[in-house]
Amino acid sequence: MSPTSLSDEFFMREALSLAQAAGCLGEVPVGAVVVKDGVIVGRGFNAPIGEHDPTAHAEVVALRDAARNLGNYRLTGCDLYVTIEPCLMCTGAIFHARIRRVVYGARDAKTGVAGSVTDLYAEEKLNHHAEIVGGVLAEECGGAVSAFFAERRKAGRAARKANKARYAAAAAGLPLADEAPAPGLVLCERSQTVEIIETIELTPLPCTGSDPE
Ligand SMILES: [Zn+2]
Repeated sequence: MSPTSLSDEFFMREALSLAQAAGCLGEVPVGAVVVKDGVIVGRGFNAPIGEHDPTAHAEVVALRDAARNLGNYRLTGCDLYVTIEPCLMCTGAIFHARIRRVVYGARDAKTGVAGSVTDLYAEEKLNHHAEIVGGVLAEECGGAVSAFFAERRKAGRAARKANKARYAAAAAGLPLADEAPAPGLVLCERSQTVEIIETIELTPLPCTGSDPE
């Protein structure tokens, strides 16, 4: 691992601003930039839900943007900054793109393959590697994701509470209130019974433009 620098922090802050954009759209807040000769040539943020695309992780989106801008599928001499440790899929794309150096913020214990779940960056059997540096603005990068999920859990609890009240009213034969079901939950009536169906529908959270904390 090479030492980090002020420029690493500068570009990580750019990635963090993209992560915030993802969070505003209800996506897990991860952002990435591709840098060549000190200039940002590609930007991306996590967008699999909105794009209906399981490959639309921040790194892949940024790699595609950079490749289009540079007119080359090989991003030789480029560095990638991403707020969260890359996953298996993104690491594959990073290696195929010939990224020179990857700088990430916070570790991802569940999907990170730069040392957390496994370390593909140290796998000698692979024909290409990128230099890897972790921990740049880790607290801010990881905090954005933690705050996002904390907010989602809070919204889920409020929705369940509201729907339980409606369920109780329906079971007691009282008329249901007219308000729409709370985000993320659907209350449906079938025959004489009332069921509460939880969905995984993702509703964009209000964007304050500042730290969700
Ligand atoms: Zn990924």
